[in-house]
Amino acid sequence: MSHDCLFCKIARHEIPARIVHEDDEFLAFHDINPAAPVHLLLMPKHHVASLAAVGSTDDAWLARMLLLVPKLAFANGCNPLPDGGFRLVANAGTEGGQEIDHLHFHILGGARPWSKRAAPAA
Ligand code: 5GP
Ligand code: ZN
Repeated sequence: MSHDCLFCKIARHEIPARIVHEDDEFLAFHDINPAAPVHLLLMPKHHVASLAAVGSTDDAWLARMLLLVPKLAFANGCNPLPDGGFRLVANAGTEGGQEIDHLHFHILGGARPWSKRAAPAA
């Protein structure tokens, strides 16, 4: 389904992004305003508003998306465990801090300190 949101345009290559992974279903690229040394965004290519908009029929692709996370993290600069690692964040809705209404995972990692923007809630 065609959609006009910013991330749909990135998915259709109408707006450039520093892409690190692309397959039939998903696109991953560097966040334009990184909050950590590694800050990737991973999204489905089809438009889904947020994690609050998925249902039981979305289980298979959501699982495939989740399985991509550690692969992308470690292939793009996150350090190995136990000293390294990564953080996975999905904002949903205004109070959840979501700015772009197209489901995406933030994958954050790299040496600390990170920006306060990516700090855990107190
Ligand atoms: P949200 O607040 O919706 O969870 O996250 C949106 C993220 O998208 C922000 O971290 C922001 O820096 C990033 N972003 C916004 N516009 C663009 C863009 O045009 N290109 C890229 N690569 N990232 C963007
Ligand atoms: Zn979209």
